[in-house]
Amino acid sequence: MQNIVKTILEEKKLQKTPCRIDVLEALYQASTALSEQEIKDKLHFDYDRATLFRTLRTFLENSLIHQVVVQKNEVKYALNQPHLQLEQQPGHAHFHCDKCDKVFCLGAVSRDLLNIPKDFQVNSFEIMFNGFCAQCRVN
Ligand SMILES: [Zn+2]
Ligand SMILES: [Zn+2]
Repeated sequence: MQNIVKTILEEKKLQKTPCRIDVLEALYQASTALSEQEIKDKLHFDYDRATLFRTLRTFLENSLIHQVVVQKNEVKYALNQPHLQLEQQPGHAHFHCDKCDKVFCLGAVSRDLLNIPKDFQVNSFEIMFNGFCAQCRVN
């Protein structure tokens, strides 16, 4: 696990600081997007808030992760698909579980499917489905 994370940082030419390794590992292992608090809970050390914030900023700026804005303006973070540049990164929808509050990255969204006029340029978009995840549906 540590090796994969270190390789990702090396590929982005980012210094392998303990906090970066720790945060990236937490996001890599998670199957869902994580809030700052959820990330903090998974870390091995108690980094101060500024360090954690700087680390997330750096990852965002280097297209390692993306932000998902959940209801009530809560922000969560998820790992980007590795080995893809930002321009190639397909836009995707998210699923928010109303019960456990988890956020999942879904598949790519096709603009053809949404009938966006051909001569419109999409700069960004957010599509969020709300409902119950597989686990909450049965419980
Ligand atoms: Zn759920
Ligand atoms: Zn996502």
